[in-house]
Amino acid sequence: MNKYRDILIIGGGASGIASAIKAAEKNPDRKITIIEKQNRILRKLLSTGNGRCNFTNINANKKNYHGSFAKFTENVFSIYPPKRVISELESYGLISKIESEGRVYPVSNHASAVVDSLLYKLESLKVEVQCETKVFSIKKENNKFLVKTDNGNYIANKVVISTGSKAGKKLGADASGLDLLRNLGHTVSELSPALCPIPVVSKKLTALKGIRATGKVALIRNDNLIKSETGEIQFTENALSGICVFNLATFVKDADTVSVSLLPELNDTKVEEIVKEHTAIFKNRLIEDLFTGVFQKKLGIYIIKEAIGDPLSRKVSTLNNNEIKQIAYAVNHLTFKVKRPTDFDKAQVVKGGVLGKEINPNSMESKKIKGLYICGEAIDINGDCGGYNLQFAFASGFLAGENL
Ligand SMILES: Cc1cc2nc3c(=O)[nH]c(=O)nc-3n(C[C@H](O)[C@H](O)[C@H](O)COP(=O)(O)OP(=O)(O)OC[C@H]3O[C@@H](n4cnc5c(N)ncnc54)[C@H](O)[C@@H]3O)c2cc1C
Repeated sequence: MNKYRDILIIGGGASGIASAIKAAEKNPDRKITIIEKQNRILRKLLSTGNGRCNFTNINANKKNYHGSFAKFTENVFSIYPPKRVISELESYGLISKIESEGRVYPVSNHASAVVDSLLYKLESLKVEVQCETKVFSIKKENNKFLVKTDNGNYIANKVVISTGSKAGKKLGADASGLDLLRNLGHTVSELSPALCPIPVVSKKLTALKGIRATGKVALIRNDNLIKSETGEIQFTENALSGICVFNLATFVKDADTVSVSLLPELNDTKVEEIVKEHTAIFKNRLIEDLFTGVFQKKLGIYIIKEAIGDPLSRKVSTLNNNEIKQIAYAVNHLTFKVKRPTDFDKAQVVKGGVLGKEINPNSMESKKIKGLYICGEAIDINGDCGGYNLQFAFASGFLAGENL
């Protein structure tokens, strides 16, 4: 037997919950159900921001977003700017704080504070939640939506698709929601992982595994600079990682190069001066200890080996001028041949989704199907690292909800 609902929200992530809250606030008499395929809602949110949930960024604006919906963030954020997202969540009991670069976290530093505030609000509005139920088809017939799930069928007046995308498979993410949207006539652009480590192909980074350093990463293609970012760089056995690397990942193509500068605030001449000074003062050290006090030992050794090769067990005093020049140059020009990231498991978000032009940015309603609303990561938009993706998920969800 079909179950009748006024509103069916498919996907219980940040955007779906935000839409449910606003829709229920607008009219508490309507029957609203959230359908979630996993055994709990908001599962991904618990893992965000390394368990701290960086849920928005006070500086968020269209420059922080990429994809065909990016320009429409102006419409969405004119109604739900970061400050309003913060005040919404605070009205559910959350207390938040602003950290460096405008990142906003719960004051407790626990993502569970955000999750619990949302759950509490949802419960107080008596929104029904149906977990362990996967939607596999949606059709619009006679002005109603027929929604088929592996746990019975529904008929609904309005439907929200807030199913996210493929990033974070271990947290239950898949692209089944995008299949639903395609079958309803929407265009989904090509999907690729974003905000993820960049795989290095030229060499194994075993010697650098686990090292963290601050510096600048620059993406280079055919000698042209594509984009650069500054911040913490992490090295894994076969990839470059860290927030600044994440922000480059979407732009990487096969055969690109990433150049790492470890003292980016100093030009090559200044670095050379410093290295020369070091070699004079510490002439009796072994070469492998030349950068003691400057970089972590393993990183120092890596730079020197990249510049002049082995052996490093001779004395610093044996370095000739050319070798000193090469070592100094390597500090700000370590290069890594990279390839396009393809692993959605390692990605925080996905590039690609439903084309921006197919959605009304003032309501999040589909321009193709009346009564169908789309919000969150299912849309062709991906933000930089720093709270921008959850800002969009919440803002677009709230906006869809108040228009339902
Ligand atoms: C590890 C990690 C850390 C992150 N950290 C941050 C951060 O600190 N700050 C930030 O801004 N962003 C962060 N992000 C990105 C952010 O979490 C997402 O952009 C955001 O959660 C997207 O929200 P959403 O509601 O669109 O989708 P989701 O949160 O993915 O929710 C979609 C829901 O729909 C359900 N679903 C899917 N298909 C179906 C179906 N067919 N039937 C029923 N249910 C379905 C899924 O199970 C899921 O619960 C992080 C992402 C990851 C993976």
